Amino acid sequence: MGMEFSRRAFVRAAAGVAAVGLCACGANGEGDQGAVGEQNVNVVVVEEKDVEPATEDLPKLAFFDLHADTVDTLCMHEYEPYASSSDEKFDGTLAENNAAVSASRMGDVGWAQCYAIWTPDDCPTVSHREFYEHGAEFFRQQLKECADAIAGVREPGDIDEALAAGKVAAILTVENSCMIEEKKDLELVDEFEEDGVLVCGLTWNGTNALAGGVSTNDGLSSLGKTYIRALEKSKMIVDVSHLSDESFWDVEKAAKRPYIATHSNARAVCNIPRNLTDDQFKAIRDRGGLVGLNLCTWFVHSEDRDYEVEDLLAHVEHWLDLGGEDVVAFGTDRDGSGMPDWIRDCSRQEKLYKKIAKHLDEEITHKLFYQNAHDFFERDLA
Ligand SMILES: [Zn+2]
Repeated sequence: MGMEFSRRAFVRAAAGVAAVGLCACGANGEGDQGAVGEQNVNVVVVEEKDVEPATEDLPKLAFFDLHADTVDTLCMHEYEPYASSSDEKFDGTLAENNAAVSASRMGDVGWAQCYAIWTPDDCPTVSHREFYEHGAEFFRQQLKECADAIAGVREPGDIDEALAAGKVAAILTVENSCMIEEKKDLELVDEFEEDGVLVCGLTWNGTNALAGGVSTNDGLSSLGKTYIRALEKSKMIVDVSHLSDESFWDVEKAAKRPYIATHSNARAVCNIPRNLTDDQFKAIRDRGGLVGLNLCTWFVHSEDRDYEVEDLLAHVEHWLDLGGEDVVAFGTDRDGSGMPDWIRDCSRQEKLYKKIAKHLDEEITHKLFYQNAHDFFERDLA
């Protein structure tokens, strides 16, 4: 298994963790394809990184989720639209709760989780800013209260350190920057930075002062362009999920740094406006960005049935055909959207890994589950 060792060393050196995936598909050698080209790199990289954490401290399997709505689900009960929703109310901490993403049910999976603060387009009782700040305060408190289980990510190496310590690497993100209503509100970018926000989406589905969301044909405003410059200056990542097509292409023109789509699928496979066209996917690929596979049922297929793993794979395989091996990631949308029971809870992630690893090369499965997103954030934070 010399090849296996080489690949493992490479993965560990690149990730700082021995996140080599489960062994289910290692036995038939699938995962070794393509390792030859990496061997030259291995020697140098491993020697340079001689002080990696001990292998026995590291998780066998790692997962990086670019999007979940767990923060809002747990802390916005008093705020609309949650207050008058008839949906089940979820309670608890980020470490232990009865929503879909709970550190207590992640098993042995090394887990990096983006926790979004979603702010609705219409906030009838509080300002957009107050809504956001309530979520940010909850997240701040959770990092203190659940310090044994969750560690915030701000610096390069924080993700690896959290996983090596058996903690969730927690990343704060903003979904809908509607609290930026005029130029003076750009001071909020500093507040986001202080709060540890690493990713900002410009809109939800409607139009705000920055850009048009997916239910509109509006493009990026001049304030939106200024906002992108401010985010990039602070090394925050622009999230293009939820943008209208017009705004997407305006962002593509305005952005100087790589941008990502945290939770969108392939429109060629499931034709809804929230999914990305092939040209949009290629634009993200050419920038060195990421696209997170959304588990929400109506993003996966348009049929009146629960989906199976093959339906998810249709999106991934389509993206791989577009040269997306280094682009694909997950953005589960857990705690924010409807999905089949077999996949809804975070405890199902290991099972999903096994199902997907039966179909895809082991190395690509690992890139999809963890490595691509990990490497992107490490590059971005550096
Ligand atoms: Zn969303």
